[in-house]
Amino acid sequence: MWWLDNVLFFVAFLLGLGLFSYRVWRIVQVIRLGKPSEVSFSFGRMVGKVVRYALIQEKMFQRPIPALLHYLVFAGFFIVNLEMVEVFVDALTDEHRFFARRLGEVYPYLVSFLELFAVFVIIACVIFILRRTVVGVRRFRAPEIDRHSWLDALFILVAVPILMVFILLMNGADWVLIERGVLDVAFREGRFWLSSLWAPAVLGSLSEGTLHVLSRVGWWGHNLLMFGLLAYLPHSKHLHMVFSFVNVALTPEVPRGAMRPLPEVQKVLQTYLGVEGSGGEEELPERFGAKDVPDLPWKSILDAFTCTECGRCTSECPANLTGKKLSPRKIVMNVRDRAEEILRYWAKNGRDGLPEGSLFSYISREELYACTTCQACVEACPVNINPLTIILEMRRYLALDAGQAPREWTLMFSNLENNGAPWQFPPEARVQWLRSPQQK
Ligand code: SF4
Ligand code: SF4
Repeated sequence: MWWLDNVLFFVAFLLGLGLFSYRVWRIVQVIRLGKPSEVSFSFGRMVGKVVRYALIQEKMFQRPIPALLHYLVFAGFFIVNLEMVEVFVDALTDEHRFFARRLGEVYPYLVSFLELFAVFVIIACVIFILRRTVVGVRRFRAPEIDRHSWLDALFILVAVPILMVFILLMNGADWVLIERGVLDVAFREGRFWLSSLWAPAVLGSLSEGTLHVLSRVGWWGHNLLMFGLLAYLPHSKHLHMVFSFVNVALTPEVPRGAMRPLPEVQKVLQTYLGVEGSGGEEELPERFGAKDVPDLPWKSILDAFTCTECGRCTSECPANLTGKKLSPRKIVMNVRDRAEEILRYWAKNGRDGLPEGSLFSYISREELYACTTCQACVEACPVNINPLTIILEMRRYLALDAGQAPREWTLMFSNLENNGAPWQFPPEARVQWLRSPQQK
């Protein structure tokens, strides 16, 4: 019945992969709702950005200690899961520890390396859990971090160390079996660094049958949890493990501080002025700025699904720091909330139409107008998310389409239109200050 084990393994894998792919496909559908976006497709630059921001995580190291811990979890998770290569080969060949019989003395060094990283990952995750639960770092206790977000972060921080423990359990049981000469291997000198320290003392008295069971518990526990996490990932903020690579690769190369101009306004003016080649009125944009998710550039929707909810943007935001209602993290999370609402609506009603409400059901005018457009949030984001684009697009909708600019702005606009300056004086009064009181 060995084949049943392997069939179950591949069924679990395909189920996890299928659920992951289906959910990502649905997210891509909602991202495709967005307007054309300024992105970079230069291959060399894309690779450079992926290395700097996703692999080396350059921006994270502005805060070295959390960055180092995060890096241990990130790199450790991928390194330790190289073990999955052997897991798949084992399942295909119906062997256990396929490479132990073929890599000779190199094999125990590889396993020891993975064990070392497994321990690093466990330590880093425990510190992260303590930071969230006991220390209570301010960034993680903001109003936008609701119960769901908080539990989502905690769930992964607990699940990842459990994954590591399953691997260490399998290695420990196997090491005792190797020492007893039950498990056939091709190395004589090497040892599994960590397992050889603890397993003989803890598991040494167990029978061969029990050790085999423990080894299988570790193997199955690790694999089922991995495939479960694969299915869960796109429903959580941890989708950034995948999307951040795409997001940083596509970051547009614009000068620092540059804002997107308004080609829509240019088009309207050219149309009304009858500029040649400007097209007819039927080609005019339906609306200015963004009222809802489909009005945003698609890169902003991708940004929303990439957000790690780390709060670095909010902790640098001068508006937030001076007690205003604005939090750039909340703005990005709200775009995702509205996109999720659209996905739920589509699941019930098909892909036609949008649910009632808009982005303004989540984001208030007060938040939008508190922004100074300083771009500190854009600079701070480790995965190159741009909360300011969302804020500006929504403000443009309020000012240009809904006629809901603040009173001071409306006054300034009308002064610009009538006087050619933001002030309430006619152009001929502009140089009056040069004249002496007698001349006036
Ligand atoms: S651009 Fe706006 S949201 Fe971003 S940091 Fe500056 S004030 Fe805050
Ligand atoms: S936008 Fe960037 S900095 Fe802000 S919470 Fe999301 S990932 Fe963190």
